[in-house]
Amino acid sequence: MRRGSWKIRILIGLAIVVFAFIQRCSNQEENPYTGRVQNINITAEQEIAIGLQSAPEMAQQHGGLYPDERMQSLVDAVGHRLVQNSIARETPYEFQFHLLADDRTINAFALPGGQCFITYALFSQLNESQLAGVLGHEIGHVIGRHSAERIAESSFWQTLTMGASVGGDMGGLVSGIGQNTLLKNGRGDELESDELGVLLMIQSGYDPNEMIKVMQILKRAAGPNRVPEFQSTHPDPENRIEKIREAIKKYSGR
Ligand SMILES: [Zn+2]
Repeated sequence: MRRGSWKIRILIGLAIVVFAFIQRCSNQEENPYTGRVQNINITAEQEIAIGLQSAPEMAQQHGGLYPDERMQSLVDAVGHRLVQNSIARETPYEFQFHLLADDRTINAFALPGGQCFITYALFSQLNESQLAGVLGHEIGHVIGRHSAERIAESSFWQTLTMGASVGGDMGGLVSGIGQNTLLKNGRGDELESDELGVLLMIQSGYDPNEMIKVMQILKRAAGPNRVPEFQSTHPDPENRIEKIREAIKKYSGR
């Protein structure tokens, strides 16, 4: 390669890297419900659209929706009590709660914009307040805009990787850092969702101590073939229980 084109490549690479950082700075906004400054590059309306679009596929992956309407309406009732009596009501999000037929995988998760899911395997182990704890945690992911944050983060790293691979052979290194960053965010997401879940429970009149019981149930349920959403890359239950206790003290003034 000629010297000239090598220089141009470096310059283009640098320009892309600078662009990535400028874009990241301009995408910063404070989350009004958590007070945390985040990098977000999509609107709440787009989050809702993404969630609605992916919801049927998510349900399909877990054996579809649970067929018993009475169980589904119990999930609806608890979910709506949480939304109607808490800060979740003030958000632009459209919350929907889905009971999944999967009776083997202990799991719950949320898509951006308000689509929340719980498997029958987890549901069947919980009382009403504990169900409120799990749904409150999932609502926390939505309000905390965790998926949107990850979308912004991954487009930032994509741009940065592109810049680095144009400018030199650093692409592999940079994308390695990118993955670690995503995992680190994952841990923080869980703790923030736990805290929001506790707040929502208190605001809706549920006993927040039941959230600690949820952690104990998850800990017991975790086996070699059962990796709940709450496990693996996430903080260990003991750590979470400690933080949940702190949140209960903070929000209930006890
Ligand atoms: Zn979670």
